[in-house]
Amino acid sequence: MRIEQDLKLGFKDVLFRPKRSTLKSRSQVELTRDFTFKHSGRQWSGVPIIAANMDSVGSFAMAQALARHNVITAVHKHYTVDDWANFVTTSDANTLRNVMVSTGTSEADFKKTQDIMALSDELLFICIDIANGYSEHLVEYVQKVRSAFPNKVISAGNVVTGDMVEELILAGADIVKVGIGPGSVCTTRVKTGVGYPQLSAIIECADAAHGMGGRIIGDGGCTCAGDVAKAFGGGADFVMLGGMLAGHEESGGELIEKNGETFMQFYGMSSQSAMDKHSGGVAKYRAAEGKTVLLPYRGPVENTIQDIMGGVRSTCTYVGAAKLKELTKRTTFIRVQEQENNVYGRE
Ligand code: 5GP
Repeated sequence: MRIEQDLKLGFKDVLFRPKRSTLKSRSQVELTRDFTFKHSGRQWSGVPIIAANMDSVGSFAMAQALARHNVITAVHKHYTVDDWANFVTTSDANTLRNVMVSTGTSEADFKKTQDIMALSDELLFICIDIANGYSEHLVEYVQKVRSAFPNKVISAGNVVTGDMVEELILAGADIVKVGIGPGSVCTTRVKTGVGYPQLSAIIECADAAHGMGGRIIGDGGCTCAGDVAKAFGGGADFVMLGGMLAGHEESGGELIEKNGETFMQFYGMSSQSAMDKHSGGVAKYRAAEGKTVLLPYRGPVENTIQDIMGGVRSTCTYVGAAKLKELTKRTTFIRVQEQENNVYGRE
């Protein structure tokens, strides 16, 4: 047994240190980034925020709403090929360039991904997603998908350490998805005791990926726009959001009336709810590693995404970054033991 003594940090452990800046207004800040991806050589330009591939987040409606801001949606893997055919024919090229096609790692998943990708050349991203990205099987699957789709942008995960980031990039991933345990409806840390504080995971994995020309997605754990900014400041190229984009008209969750108020159901993808819906219940050998919650219904996602982008722009002005790309270079985190003042409740 070994113990690593370095303290690892989450978003709540730091704040940005403000820096002198010549920027006069947050409207001067450019959130759009241009990436050319390592293996595929493909380019993408947009605001590098991604709606998570969860049932009640990564819907087709979410993709259509967020693509207006050039924000990506990782569409969840429970739509059929027919659903995709319909989506592809009713969406413009810009929407299609801003979606990720999510897949697991089974033979059936591979076939389905082939069928979906064949629907339109505009589809650019494939998101290979399993809870435990440390499985050797994921590496082999990434190699297989890379040889089948040499010119598509492939994301693979989830992992939290540099060694595995490197292995996945060597196997053919352009982007590695980072996060085990930080999610808002995730119970992995409670059920298994496994995890890694998300800000440290991002800092360490970004360093490994960038050294090889790869990119990372910081996935999970953002509770507010400030956390999204901290993820970018720590080196995340993309930030994936579940809970922050759940509970909206476009999220597609079930609406529930309670005491005259409207709520929307939101659940983890390995929760009892998800497994009841998609796999006929929780298999005997495993425990559910996600929970189900009711969120106050928040209406269209437009205000929320504007709010998030506004917050990140404002961070950039506080540290003097004219572009999101410069945020990491301008970031000094200070370790803290306090965050917001909650004397009048929480925002
Ligand atoms: P959030 O933004 O809500 O904090 O985190 C979203 C992320 O949580 C997702 O992108 C995914 O990586 C993770 N996640 C979603 N469902 C589950 C689940 O049931 N169990 C676990 N361990 N993680 C989940």
